[in-house]
Amino acid sequence: MSALTDLTIAEARDGLRAKRFSAVDLTMAHLHAIEALNPRLNAYITVSHSQALDQARAADARLAVGPGGQAPADLTGIPLAIKDLFCTQGVRTTAGSKILGPFVPPYESTVTANLLRDGAVLLGKTNMDEFAMGSSNMTSAYGPVENPWKRKQDNTAVLVPGGSSGGSASSVAARIAMGATGTDTGGSIRQPASFCGLVGVKPTYGRCSRWGVVAFASSLDHPGPFARTVRDSAILLRSMAGHDPKDSTSAPVPVPDFEAACARGVKGLRIGVPKEYRSDGMPAEIEALWQQGLDWLRAAGAETVDVSLPHTKYGLGTYYIVAPAEASSNLARYDGVRFGMREDGSDLRDQYERTRAAGFGPEVRRRVLIGTYVLSAGYYDAYYIRAQKIRQLILRDFTEAFAKVDALLTPTAPSAAFAQGENMDDPIKMYLNDVFTVPANLAGVPAASVPAGLDANGLPLGLQIIGKPFDEETVFAVSAAVEQAAGFNALPAIRAEG
Ligand code: GLN
Repeated sequence: MSALTDLTIAEARDGLRAKRFSAVDLTMAHLHAIEALNPRLNAYITVSHSQALDQARAADARLAVGPGGQAPADLTGIPLAIKDLFCTQGVRTTAGSKILGPFVPPYESTVTANLLRDGAVLLGKTNMDEFAMGSSNMTSAYGPVENPWKRKQDNTAVLVPGGSSGGSASSVAARIAMGATGTDTGGSIRQPASFCGLVGVKPTYGRCSRWGVVAFASSLDHPGPFARTVRDSAILLRSMAGHDPKDSTSAPVPVPDFEAACARGVKGLRIGVPKEYRSDGMPAEIEALWQQGLDWLRAAGAETVDVSLPHTKYGLGTYYIVAPAEASSNLARYDGVRFGMREDGSDLRDQYERTRAAGFGPEVRRRVLIGTYVLSAGYYDAYYIRAQKIRQLILRDFTEAFAKVDALLTPTAPSAAFAQGENMDDPIKMYLNDVFTVPANLAGVPAASVPAGLDANGLPLGLQIIGKPFDEETVFAVSAAVEQAAGFNALPAIRAEG
């Protein structure tokens, strides 16, 4: 049997049900691996050792119910990592920010409550860019995260895991979690998945509740899973998803069996190739991988069709107006009175200013400034209203494309993982990481990243599959076909050894 930390979630589910090992064994194996690797990777901000063991013992009790009893829920005894943006009752939740350093939520987010309902073991809270603002995990107040993958040519360079869900991606790649939650506002699940050789899924807006998820940009924030296989990501999403009356934007629609959808195949499907994603500066190996992906899907019985998403070029500009606008409003609540840290001042206003100046890092301050600027009287019409209009046009592009095709295939990111310190001199360079991912957030449509190959340096590259609203099943079917054809089995240099 392979090491417990190498198992997929589906394999571990079978092993637990067959009593080949216990949930406590599986959890202990992960906690030991975290102890060994986390000091270097810095993937977890908080490890919830004792809660995880309690949950594992409870899982073993559920698994002990013999034949004839009800089969335990899918995630019973499966150890997972949780992005530190999800509130977890009694477990510190920082959002990667100093301002929430002392915050211990008195309640559980709906997504983590769903995972716990289904028996999951929560190992701890993962590092992330501050308030999910970033593409490299370099903006975290808790230090950078290391990507467990190494360049073949220069294995001393420390690479970023992507962001903002960098700790979740690093932990799953390094096998110190079997799967993880993330959030994706402009690409924060898909881009780190691509950088770390993982599957990452951003479902349709409204599919997973945002209740108890620290807000960045409410109309763009999407919780979703990271896993090492498409099937595992389907198992996780099925548990995380579902209507939640506590989130007014949560969709009252049933949750399909995403795992079953992975086996559907792509015969007869029409796969769109948006010509606007063929940007001039795209590295040749990413372009080649994209063509390869289309060949794989054709060989599996799909038809590929050229489509146009003409407003794609406005995606990033629109995102960097809407997201900071919403963030500046959401972050107004951190005033030193109700949550987290406080810096005393001479009066209330002075206290607000000192608390926010001491508590927020430079990227968050930049976003608050941009956001308040685009919302200010005089600029509101020129920026915010115009961005909202373009957002509608971007959505219309997708609607028109999906009248002709069932899903779209594109690259996930314009590069493989870069080194810590690279792209730091100019915020615009960092923002360009999301050029292929933000349109799906602006439109709210589901999208996944699947590891499809390696670059010349031996680093993973992902392909993105974008689907129709609430048609994650087709996204999973296409993702599984890409995964099968790619046969991606490369391993990161740093990983738990059983
Ligand atoms: N990198 C993008 C940003 O910095 C997206 C982040 C995200 O999806 N949370 O805003």
